[in-house]
Amino acid sequence: MTMIDYVFEPGLIRSLPVADSTARFPVARVFCLGRNYHWGDSLNAPREMPAFFMKPATSVIDAVGELEFPPLTEQFCHEIELVVAIGTGGFNIDEAHALDHVWGYAAGLDLTRRDLQMAAKAVGQPWEAAKAFDGSAPISPIQPASILGHPSQGALWLSVNGVERQRSDLESQIWSVGEIVSRLSQSIRLIPGDLIMTGTPPGVDVLQSGDVISAGIAGIGTFEVRIGGRRAA
Ligand code: MN
Repeated sequence: MTMIDYVFEPGLIRSLPVADSTARFPVARVFCLGRNYHWGDSLNAPREMPAFFMKPATSVIDAVGELEFPPLTEQFCHEIELVVAIGTGGFNIDEAHALDHVWGYAAGLDLTRRDLQMAAKAVGQPWEAAKAFDGSAPISPIQPASILGHPSQGALWLSVNGVERQRSDLESQIWSVGEIVSRLSQSIRLIPGDLIMTGTPPGVDVLQSGDVISAGIAGIGTFEVRIGGRRAA
């Protein structure tokens, strides 16, 4: 076996726990879908696949304990989302076989610096400052599809300090998981370990230090995390 002569030790591979197992799911990339639930203003909008954006794998953390309050924002927002974990890669995946590429499902937060997103939208700049910060993707343990199947319905919700802010159902998704996997694979070759965050229902709002988030998706996973303080200078 040939050892590769790296100039420094490569970073640790990010991974998520597999539910009811000691195994962990290694994360490759994180794709995120924009609007995938009707927010009231969009009921009559044409059914256009919203844009995909990305978070780095390094933004993925276990959804446990305390989350660091990110720098550079006064509008740190929660978005509860179904997370699709890809186990078999592919390019131009047919929608009829798309679910065969899904290894499992989880519940996650697409944490967002909303003020930076609004500023970027206003001048047509990219969203990385708003979406790709450290710790911006806390995700629950992954439930294998081999056990769970491929749920197309189930409540998802998010509460802050015991007050419910977001509630919908997977059956309200505008684009199904199969459609999303198929469409994304027309743009890039999906690889094992890719995660897809599939959009959030209405009710997104700001978080403060000390807030406690309880969130989950029925049959897939629940979690509770606390928002910590801002990092000292
Ligand atoms: Mn989102």
